[in-house]
Amino acid sequence: KKIVIAIDGFSSCGKSTMAKDLARRIGYVYVDTGAMYRSVTLFALNHHLFNEDGSVKADQLEKLMPEVNISFKFNTETGRPDTYLNGVCVENDIRGMEVSSHVSPIAAIPFVREALVAQQQRMGGDKGIVMDGRDIGTTVFPEAELKIFVTASAEVRAQRRYDELKAKGAEANYDDILKNVQERDYIDTHREVSPLRKADDALELDNSHMTIEEQNAWLMQRFEQ
Ligand code: C5P
Repeated sequence: KKIVIAIDGFSSCGKSTMAKDLARRIGYVYVDTGAMYRSVTLFALNHHLFNEDGSVKADQLEKLMPEVNISFKFNTETGRPDTYLNGVCVENDIRGMEVSSHVSPIAAIPFVREALVAQQQRMGGDKGIVMDGRDIGTTVFPEAELKIFVTASAEVRAQRRYDELKAKGAEANYDDILKNVQERDYIDTHREVSPLRKADDALELDNSHMTIEEQNAWLMQRFEQ
């Protein structure tokens, strides 16, 4: 029987790397829910729906939400899904600092979460799914058969995101990234709707001192048990 595997944790903790690896190895569908919140954020940026102080023009966004159409298409070159917003591939745009620094207030809006959670639940079913995010084990799939909660120190996570951006040839400043990671941690754990927390029945993994191979192997073992 194919199951739902929920992988939650802080930003840039390596969740998506391990989730993607597991999905590929066991032939499951991988869903990156962070990419969905990032896509709504890009949409809001494109439509100038942020106030000067960084808050969201929520009334206007709510009216436009029916026009936000997010989908994924598997990219055979990279071996992972690309994110599409209204038919346009936004995989690169949603990973930059502009989106990263605006995403938390978007993810704190109840109607945004309702819409995305409903879409995520429709992606479940019996086809076998590895979903990564913040609230998968607590809200999206509270009945998931396997739940993992991933942590790593803020410094380790900032360094990883820095390396990732540099490897892509993008602009990156370690101090800015660390600040962004810490700010997102704070907002994600303190928001009113579905704050980031470990589900009671989730297995915890602190991967601060693990290599990618070690964490992938750890996850594979949990799946096989
Ligand atoms: O995982 P990633 O860093 O790409 O997620 C971007 C942001 O989207 C997070 O900082 C968080 O605010 C939000 N998010 C969320 N719930 C999810 C996935 C992401 O609130 N399930």
